[in-house]
Amino acid sequence: MSTEQNRLHNLFPDLDFDPAALRARYRQERDKRIRPDGEAQYVEAAEQFADYADHDPYVDTLLEREPLDLELDVVVVGAGFSGLMTAARLKERGITNFRVIEAGADFGGTWYWNRYPGAQCDIESYCYLPLLEETGYMPREKYSFAPEIFAHTRRIGEYFGLYGNALFQTRVTELRWHESERRWQVSTHRGDNIRTRFVIQATGPANRPKLPGIPGIADFRGHAFHTSRWDYDYTGGDHNGALTKLADKRVAIIGTGATAIQCVPFLGEHAKQLYVFQRTPSSVDLRGNRQTDADWYATLGHGWQRARRENFAAVLAGQPVAEDLVADGWTDIARRIGISLMNRRADAGNLDMEELELRAEIADFQKMNEIRARVDAEVSEADAAEKLKPWYRQFCKRPTFNDAYLATFNRPNVQLIDVADAKGVERITENAVVANGVAYEVDCIIYATGFEITTQPHRRVDFDTIGCNGQSLYTHWKDGFRTLHGLSSHGFPNWFTIGINQNGLSPNMTAMFDDQAVHVSYVINEVLARGKTRMEVDAAAEEAWVRKIVAMAGTGATAFLEECTPGYYNREGKGAGTNRQNSPFAPGINAFNALLADWRQTGELAGLSLD
Ligand code: NDP
Repeated sequence: MSTEQNRLHNLFPDLDFDPAALRARYRQERDKRIRPDGEAQYVEAAEQFADYADHDPYVDTLLEREPLDLELDVVVVGAGFSGLMTAARLKERGITNFRVIEAGADFGGTWYWNRYPGAQCDIESYCYLPLLEETGYMPREKYSFAPEIFAHTRRIGEYFGLYGNALFQTRVTELRWHESERRWQVSTHRGDNIRTRFVIQATGPANRPKLPGIPGIADFRGHAFHTSRWDYDYTGGDHNGALTKLADKRVAIIGTGATAIQCVPFLGEHAKQLYVFQRTPSSVDLRGNRQTDADWYATLGHGWQRARRENFAAVLAGQPVAEDLVADGWTDIARRIGISLMNRRADAGNLDMEELELRAEIADFQKMNEIRARVDAEVSEADAAEKLKPWYRQFCKRPTFNDAYLATFNRPNVQLIDVADAKGVERITENAVVANGVAYEVDCIIYATGFEITTQPHRRVDFDTIGCNGQSLYTHWKDGFRTLHGLSSHGFPNWFTIGINQNGLSPNMTAMFDDQAVHVSYVINEVLARGKTRMEVDAAAEEAWVRKIVAMAGTGATAFLEECTPGYYNREGKGAGTNRQNSPFAPGINAFNALLADWRQTGELAGLSLD
């Protein structure tokens, strides 16, 4: 026996699979999907494809208004959860002279746009929906569907009186700092002239849909849309299904990520014929949703939501907790596989990191074996079942949870077309999707091909931010993010961003955004209260934070992702995988929040210059 086999045998005497064989299979599946063009395989929803992003199918008529001339204290760009929570926290501090500028016609962001049938949040609602205690709202189920979440964003908007602060159906086209006036000039596509002392970019990570650069995509003459702009006029029905207008339609859906997993069961139920084009199968675990027990909910005492969110974050970070309060698929994976291993260095005392990593890998194999066994149990046709099995480590792709997806492939009108060997759909013609040499004639193509989540920031945000000396933010960030606390940058006075880089990251994004909003509103309030007009991050403080992020990120996450099947998590498997400079604060969101709380506690605004 080799040393490796000895070690395995000692640690896991009862192992019923061969880890080496699985490793080899994972590597083989990864290699066949790697494309030389990496992220460049996607096309932006711009120019000839702009309508895929700009068209809003949820409004009947576009708002018409004259350009505005406004002098403000704060502009928040984006009215998704990050912008919404920022606006709420500003109001809470008595700052009222602000506007929230948003392309959509309401609050909601992700939940405004993603109304596809079955859309649901896979983070427990009691953690995900913010301000439940303040608004007195009880989520209907453990996992909320999109309409309930969208309604909750509107509830928060009403609760804080934010509708009067909103400029909907308005796209920012540029932010420009004017030093002499100590103001930001905000330009919009409506020709508004807005000057503001502070600006907060809260445009979200999943704001821009992306399209596959499949040859011929522009040639298709049938109907086509992206899942985040669902066309119910064409399909009929609503979020709950009843897509009756598809009864005589042949439909193609391209993509099998978290979005497709949720809408495919509805398409399968209603389309005359559904072709699901799959390049990489998702890992689909049990959902097991349930109604909220009102009696239990009534027993939750003051401060329960923050405690629950922190408990969830602690479990995900691999920290010891007395009780796993959420106890669901996420926390199960985290406890078993040790999500923290991906972000940690071997600095945890005398732990044998190699052994820990091996244990995590074996637990991962076991978990994924269960996921693959679930496919066999749900899908009757052996060939389809084989193709639906994911061969990669659990966190190479976003885990998904759904109880109807796999069984959809038992329907006679649903066909799975695996395009892994060809690294994607081959071609699109006037009336067909071509894959593996076969033309599948269709009436409609639905792109479930995701968002510009980890592409270059300027591609995600379709406007420029010009700071001191005419410098673009994206020039400042050309080698990776440069911020203090992930929230503001040197050379960009009175400017903040709410986001997912260089700060405490959590899959429970609303909590994360709210914590950042609390902090940003504190800083703005302090600057105003101290009678100052200009706040800027010191270059040294920014540099120190960048170094800290890079040093703590270690190499674990990069190494892990490089071995993964391609996807947006590892920038399509290209080169060095992730840029360590763009990493989150490795000790996790609870530690990050504690750090910010200590920072605020001193009242020194360390790292910021005020004048
Ligand atoms: P993803 O980016 O996860 O998936 C895109 C899909 O399109 C993949 O299956 C991809 O295949 C496929 N694809 C891309 N190009 C081609 C091509 N040329 N030919 C064939 N297939 C192609 O997008 P989603 O919208 O599904 O999810 C995005 C994110 O949104 C999630 O990761 C999650 O963070 C979030 N989300 C969260 C939900 C929640 O419950 N909280 C629900 C839904 C989404 P491949 O994998 O091979 O690249």
